[in-house]
Amino acid sequence: MDFSKRILKVKPSPTLAVTALANSMKEKGIDIIGFGSGEPDFDTPKPIKDAAIRAIEAGKTKYTPAGGLPDLKKAVADKFMRDNNLEYKLSEITINCGGKHSFFNLMQVMLNEGDEVIIPAPYWVSYPSIVMLGGGEPVIIHTNTENGFKITPKQLEENISAKTKAIVLNSPSNPTGVAYRRNEIEALAEVLKDKELHIISDDIYESIVYDDFEFSNIANVSKNMKKKTIVLNGVSKTYSMTGWRIGYMAGDETIIKKTETLQSQSTSNPTSISQWAAIEAINGDQSVVKEMVKAFARRRKMIVDSLNNIPGCECLNPYGAFYVFPSFKDLFQSDKWKKLSQKYDSEFNSTNFSSYLLEKANVAVVPGVAFGNDDSIRMSFATSDKNIEEGVKRIKKAVEQLG
Ligand code: PLP
Repeated sequence: MDFSKRILKVKPSPTLAVTALANSMKEKGIDIIGFGSGEPDFDTPKPIKDAAIRAIEAGKTKYTPAGGLPDLKKAVADKFMRDNNLEYKLSEITINCGGKHSFFNLMQVMLNEGDEVIIPAPYWVSYPSIVMLGGGEPVIIHTNTENGFKITPKQLEENISAKTKAIVLNSPSNPTGVAYRRNEIEALAEVLKDKELHIISDDIYESIVYDDFEFSNIANVSKNMKKKTIVLNGVSKTYSMTGWRIGYMAGDETIIKKTETLQSQSTSNPTSISQWAAIEAINGDQSVVKEMVKAFARRRKMIVDSLNNIPGCECLNPYGAFYVFPSFKDLFQSDKWKKLSQKYDSEFNSTNFSSYLLEKANVAVVPGVAFGNDDSIRMSFATSDKNIEEGVKRIKKAVEQLG
């Protein structure tokens, strides 16, 4: 079979290899502690589930407009006003089958062969693949623990070319949990203000922020920036609704309209029942989100403090989301790891380290290379306090055994 050039460019996610290995070990009865999950470990709140049940019983089970129910678009418009002070008409909003689908649709309608999309690393695993599936070229800007995993205005300027179609900003970020403060966003906007490109602001973790962190969006900087920005968001993470598959976007009416044309010829509407549930999630009592964030905040402290107790590990305190991205760079470069490298027949990197942790400590983590950074591993703290305590203890022991 001569497969399409587009699909041949895209590799299966390296995260799947670890997950598959962890699952097969679990099936053999081995006690694995998993830190791989990209979703809150809470149930979807009851009022949201009840809204879905009511929708089924009322027969709201047929096609909706391809771009989503007007009632949901209205809820999203009200949410943008309430939470972000951003005003959008319903024609500037569209509903998709999850945030991943929103980004996919956008790349399909925006890109021509060879167009460039700037992606700061560490990045969410799907961005580069989805850009390539749209025919585009990802342009990766690397960051590290020293610059707090944030790109600088200078780096941004240097990476913009005549082919740049868009830049992706994901704050708070998956996988680092790092987020840009208002002044940092303004500095990036200063670079972008006269450029002919779009900014894709992926705000999917906006509600999961800690301490005094105040979320801000580049679209708030000026009218000009709002015009250039497409905001991407969804209910998956905020309301623990990952399986319901509802994401949304807001921005330039002509772009939004084109994504609806694409959607009308691909998935058609997102599930009608999930859309009614999403209306309840967005319009309903928001205290459920606060409760979830409180639990995440407690676990964040536990995991960051205990990881920083491991020799050779540096873990930044995330401002948001439910991930940490500890760097083991010092350890990877040390002599004592050479022995282990020989066993794996390659240099010591995040993939080998993750395999080592799985075998030695029975702990499943995601190698940082999947996110464009081979010095780190990603650990989700959307898991119980008990798992965090025991899992990090096991990692520490496995690291010390190598010394
Ligand atoms: N954006 C980021 C940064 C994510 O981490 C995810 C999910 O992991 C998504 C978008 C998409 O979420 P979903 O498609 O589940 O709504």
